[in-house]
Amino acid sequence: MLNLVLFGPPGAGKGTQSEKLIKKYNLVHLSTGDLLRSQIAAGTELGLRAKQLMDQGLLVPDEVVIGMIEYKLRENQEAAGFIFDGFPRTVNQAVALDDLLTQYNTEITTMISLVVEDEELIRRLLKRGETSGRPDDRDEETARRRVRVYNSETMPVADFYEKQGKYLAVDGIGEIESIFTAICQKIEQVSVKTQ
Ligand code: AMP
Repeated sequence: MLNLVLFGPPGAGKGTQSEKLIKKYNLVHLSTGDLLRSQIAAGTELGLRAKQLMDQGLLVPDEVVIGMIEYKLRENQEAAGFIFDGFPRTVNQAVALDDLLTQYNTEITTMISLVVEDEELIRRLLKRGETSGRPDDRDEETARRRVRVYNSETMPVADFYEKQGKYLAVDGIGEIESIFTAICQKIEQVSVKTQ
């Protein structure tokens, strides 16, 4: 199985690159942000509670996103592999993901981290907000809060994978296609090593 964590701050291009990676490697895309937004659209209790935090640029509780991932793993047991996008965002989530994958006799193959500097992220988030309709991209204060939350709560997840020898960084600035090529090169290096 090929199980990728696509890591990086909000606005780094994880969603865009995930779309391309799932096609090329035939993976199931698990984006906790997308899963939460569909709960909001469906008007569920979980969605309503999550929305209050998401609109402010804050993280939803670990148990909520871990529960959603657990459900999706169970639902997709025949998958060739997964791409985790926007998850794990805390070390607790990373530990829980390792435990869940162990139950299915598999593990994270590698984490690819898209590196983009903060001011470029703010520019991208505000630009996306012009068309995405996402409340959390709409104003600069929320965009800045999301980047701050990433730096304080999510960055330690990179160390978690680094310690496992699974951290690979890719420059997230440039053309979508060249970033995609760089990601695929990293994946193929790792796949050769683990074969
Ligand atoms: P995203 O689409 O990945 O940018 O996520 C949008 C928002 O959903 C985030 O700002 C959080 O409020 C929430 N969210 C998504 N994934 C997670 C996660 N793994 N842990 C906690 N909150 C999350």
